[in-house]
Amino acid sequence: MGRRRASSSRWLAEHARDAYVLRARAEGYRSRAAYKLQELARRERLLRPGQRVLDLGAAPGGWSQVAAGMIGPRGRVVAIDLLEMAPLDGVTVLQGDVRDRAVWPQLAQALGGLADLVISDMAPNLSGIKDVDQAAGAELARVGLEAARRFLKPGGGMLIKVFAGGDLQDLTTEYRAVFERVDTRKPDASRGRSRELYLMAGGLRAEARLVEPAGLQ
Ligand code: SAM
Repeated sequence: MGRRRASSSRWLAEHARDAYVLRARAEGYRSRAAYKLQELARRERLLRPGQRVLDLGAAPGGWSQVAAGMIGPRGRVVAIDLLEMAPLDGVTVLQGDVRDRAVWPQLAQALGGLADLVISDMAPNLSGIKDVDQAAGAELARVGLEAARRFLKPGGGMLIKVFAGGDLQDLTTEYRAVFERVDTRKPDASRGRSRELYLMAGGLRAEARLVEPAGLQ
């Protein structure tokens, strides 16, 4: 068996055993990632009834399920992904590339007002070439920041996946210019050896908001 096949069958075996995967299956969540948001949301009191939430890179929908459950029927979740995502109660699902600003008016319309929270679990398709993958991850983190400046209300918060290494320090500095508080978090449900981390940002600075010219809402 080639090295690649051996490592992918090891990944499959680990994944099948993974307690969070089994739990997600038993509890009806679409992804094990649901537990990362659940853990952080509970610990940091991120999601509250009646909130408007924008979920970037939402497929297959685990985070959207958790968000919709915690904000309840008076809240609203708008989810977007490159991939098709099956419908979910309480969630408006859009298919598109967040980097394509042409889809942003649809996000604004579906939200129907400024969001309380932007959550982003976006991850690039990995090429295996370190520099390329780092640049792609950083691009998504920067698009996420721009989306937060466009869609969040002043004082709003953001939770976004980033990757250790590369220009994480620069990215954190950019987030600090836009939010009053920025911390990193590594939830238990994030596999130990994975390089993913989450930036938790709170208190969007009013002066950092990107305001659309009148008529372009
Ligand atoms: N949070 C999701 C859940 O709980 O089910 C899992 C998200 S998965 C780790 C990352 C997602 O980001 C993928 O579905 C991928 O298609 C999406 N993605 C990556 N780049 C994107 C982009 N530019 N625009 C929209 N979605 C993107």
